[in-house]
Amino acid sequence: MRKPIIVGNWKMNKTCAEAVSFINEIEPKLHDGADYGIAAPFTALKDCVNTAKGLIVAAENCHFEDNGAFTGEVSVPMLEEIGVKWCIIGHSERRQMFNETDETVNKKAKRLIEAGITPILCIGETEAQFDAGQTEEVIRAQLKGGLEGLCPKCVAKMVLAYEPIWAIGTGKSATKEIAQNCCHIVRDQVRVMFGDEAAEGVRIQYGGSVKPNNIKEYMAMEDIDGALIGGASLKTDSFEEIINATK
Ligand code: PEP
Repeated sequence: MRKPIIVGNWKMNKTCAEAVSFINEIEPKLHDGADYGIAAPFTALKDCVNTAKGLIVAAENCHFEDNGAFTGEVSVPMLEEIGVKWCIIGHSERRQMFNETDETVNKKAKRLIEAGITPILCIGETEAQFDAGQTEEVIRAQLKGGLEGLCPKCVAKMVLAYEPIWAIGTGKSATKEIAQNCCHIVRDQVRVMFGDEAAEGVRIQYGGSVKPNNIKEYMAMEDIDGALIGGASLKTDSFEEIINATK
């Protein structure tokens, strides 16, 4: 039985004060029906970790090297030091704007797992790839590259977020059937690479314009274990509605 997991991705939003105020407001609304979390900018992470009691606090990125000449980057030991236990890697915005590749995603996953930090690994196709019927091929290739060399037990504990790029921040969410089909492909690829235990254990999220009014339909699908949510995670009222809809 996989516990659902809902994570808000704040992206480059929220000061420390705004983040702390959000967490204080949202914490009393949490329940046991799912794991809930937020991914915050680096600057707010320490305050978030120190404020959150039940809410998962994730970083939005990390570097795979521990230190060195990587101006502007943050390493896994730096996250570890402030108590971060989760980290998004391979978000499409990082792949598209900051040259993230399956190879760097894989290095990040390995370093995070070594540190006991759970990766939330994002994958998903572009609109052109979707239109060209290449979705399955893209998903399988991203997973092959991103998960290569990990141990089955490690993969079983990870979260994989299927996020079609054409649905992120566009209001054009995937139908529940498309989302289910793609999350099924994700699970199948994990099965091919790591076997049944990893495939049955890994939690797979759908992401792309998830809102309070459509979350339930995704959560009802067999291979969808949660959601990664951008826009609708920024305000406490919409995040609370999502929490209530996933009781
Ligand atoms: C995201 O940033 O991962 C995302 C899914 O954003 P949105 O919910 O705004 O589409």
